[in-house]
Amino acid sequence: MFKSLSLTLSFLIASAPAIAVERPPQFVLLAFDNCQENQSWKQVSDFLDQMNTGSKDRLRYTFFLSATGLLADPVRHTYTDPMGRTGKSNINFGGGEDEVIERVRWINKLHRDGNEIASHAVGHFPGQDWSVAQWRHELDQYDYIINNVASINGLKGDKAKAATLAFSADQIRGFRAPYLQGGKNLIQVLGERRYAYDTSDSNQGWEPTTWPKRFLEALGGKGLWNFGLGFLTLNATQITEADLKAGLPRQKKSIKLPAMDYNFCYRQTGGCAEKDPFKAEQDKDAQEMLVGYLNYFATNYNGNRAPVHIGHHFQQYRGGSYNRALMRFARAVCGRPEVKCTTYKELTDYMEKLGTTGRNQVQEGRFDKAAPVSIEELVQSAKLASE
Ligand SMILES: [Zn+2]
Repeated sequence: MFKSLSLTLSFLIASAPAIAVERPPQFVLLAFDNCQENQSWKQVSDFLDQMNTGSKDRLRYTFFLSATGLLADPVRHTYTDPMGRTGKSNINFGGGEDEVIERVRWINKLHRDGNEIASHAVGHFPGQDWSVAQWRHELDQYDYIINNVASINGLKGDKAKAATLAFSADQIRGFRAPYLQGGKNLIQVLGERRYAYDTSDSNQGWEPTTWPKRFLEALGGKGLWNFGLGFLTLNATQITEADLKAGLPRQKKSIKLPAMDYNFCYRQTGGCAEKDPFKAEQDKDAQEMLVGYLNYFATNYNGNRAPVHIGHHFQQYRGGSYNRALMRFARAVCGRPEVKCTTYKELTDYMEKLGTTGRNQVQEGRFDKAAPVSIEELVQSAKLASE
């Protein structure tokens, strides 16, 4: 009798940890990488304007900006990459000077509206094996470009004014490595500088209900926040590159992958080639991604409220179907009570206030739970959410 009572009690204690902290908001971090195409700047800007009409704080994005977009093609050789070459990049340079000026206008507008501009380096190279000196060089080049867009592009007068960013490099506090390939030397170099967080680590994300931690390597554990992308486990239609070549059909099975448009494109089409072999199924495939995102949100919202991290690109993979699905996701979740669809800077501020003890308590879910949201309800509201 006594024994079974104590067992029951210990079960209750284990399943409902004592309340220790105030319930945290559900942070949702929606970010874009590269950020080159002016048409996509317009699309995200229009969407933010719609979302924030009436309730100003419904949605903010973080933009991981590649600095190549700020160098017009004729001045591409002013950039020296960490391998010592000039004028090279794995993504486009800025195009004509008018395109650069238009890009700066969008960046300044969205920055003014409270969105965050963070760094995605300059040349879009995989830097996993770079030395400390090579990373320092790349980040120096980045800062130089941010601070001198007009003069590097040889612009004068009104054009120079229009091509000047409304912020300086030292206000940029966040980083995401191209191809998510950063590594230890990157973390050291970011830690030496003004950076507050890095979002390149794809290991911590293997458990999507993980509250962020700091990188232990940097500054004795007091350094950068590690905001890695969430990894999802879901049933999705997929094919390998080899099976695609062999003419085999796609299969639906369980996969684990980061919450990123490119990764869905890659797995669902066997390589994410520009010419989509499954064009007729773009929206159906994007729907699988959307349901994966909604499950990610519901699990965390109903659980320990660990932040939801999703990364997309300005490039419109598969006819823009993934980015349209992301907009449906934002409409379905952003603006709900206790949900903050906001910038990494705001998450950084929250984590700093929470402190290590608070972070460990929310990780364990030691707070009073809210009424749960059902996945059916979320799927329904995502269906109702127009593009
Ligand atoms: Zn990128």
